[in-house]
Amino acid sequence: MNDLQDYLAELAERGMLRSLREIESAQGPRVQIGGQTYLLLCSNNYLGLANHPALIDAACKATRELGVGSGASRLISGSMSLHHRLEERIAAFKGSEAALVFNTGYAANNGIIQGLLGPEDSVFSDSLNHASIIDGCRLSGARIQVYPHNDMQALEELLHRESQSRRGRWLIVTDGVFSMDGDIAPLDRLVKLKEHYNAWLMVDDAHGGGVLGEHGRGTAELFGCMEQVDLQMGTFGKAFGSFGAYLAARREVIETLINRSRSFIFSTSLPPGVLAANLAAIELVDSEEGQRRRTQLETNRQLFSTLLSAAGFDLCGSSTQIVPILIGDPEPTMQAAAGIFRQGIYLSGIRPPTVPAGTCRLRATLMADHTPTEIRQAAQLVIDIVRQELAGD
Ligand code: PMP
Repeated sequence: MNDLQDYLAELAERGMLRSLREIESAQGPRVQIGGQTYLLLCSNNYLGLANHPALIDAACKATRELGVGSGASRLISGSMSLHHRLEERIAAFKGSEAALVFNTGYAANNGIIQGLLGPEDSVFSDSLNHASIIDGCRLSGARIQVYPHNDMQALEELLHRESQSRRGRWLIVTDGVFSMDGDIAPLDRLVKLKEHYNAWLMVDDAHGGGVLGEHGRGTAELFGCMEQVDLQMGTFGKAFGSFGAYLAARREVIETLINRSRSFIFSTSLPPGVLAANLAAIELVDSEEGQRRRTQLETNRQLFSTLLSAAGFDLCGSSTQIVPILIGDPEPTMQAAAGIFRQGIYLSGIRPPTVPAGTCRLRATLMADHTPTEIRQAAQLVIDIVRQELAGD
């Protein structure tokens, strides 16, 4: 065990030791930590649905009627009516033939890529894709080609080069909204490339779902290309306020995954309360209230980003509710996050391995139910403290 102690001590020395912070209240724009109230600026609960009465009621009702557990994996005896209803609702929402529910986004990305690709196939993956996509690519055994972030010319060159000796199935995979930079994948151009090179296109819309597009159907709706994205993956743990994930795709894809996807096959299925909350969340996102919450989120995003840009900070090309503030080294980043926390605002400092070395950042995420006054005060505080840190005060 000594080697683990050495490992932890060494992490601490380099300012890289991670630890957990306990939240004592429900998730909302403000939370309780250590008996104090903090403005929460690092939650993915973008639309404020995690504590919404409609989701809570749906979860309680389903739990009372159907219990707290599903009892087994889907292929054994855990495929409850609510799973099937949720999958039909997802397919209608995403305009796809069929859908499949996964337990988490992490399990979905692992299981989709592993279930559809093998060693004879190739996957083309954006360099800033989420860790769960990277792990899924590795698990599949496919040939992995990483293209520079959002660089369509580099991707085209790669596809062209590889097409000389093409074999197997090709998959291009990208985040819709990148989780650490808050920028958006150019899906219009990716669709053209995938069509020209006869590849499948998979979009992980964990951060775009519920937020982007007129009806919150995500990044593909924003670009008007929902039908062209072969594999639309999304999660329920962020804007939808609940838990779990899904793939919307053609029926034969879904049936293949039911037969091959290890994270789907070998795991107890989601329980009734979560499924019912997910169904209620889709209804809300698809409603006028959803539209109103998206508008509020966008107003908050514009206000916060404009104030920080005007102060001269590099926001990594963000155009969404994820707003990084680039700092560089781990120490000033974590010092700034700690200073901001002392002033009553909780946002996260992000270090390697989550982001490449030299690109440490503060990462703010906005919510629909932050008030404009809170956003203004938070922006000013971040500006003041980051300036102090960078000046070495
Ligand atoms: N994809 C992306 C882009 C994510 O940011 C995340 C979660 N941080 C996931 C997938 C994993 O989703 P989940 O939290 O449901 O496992």
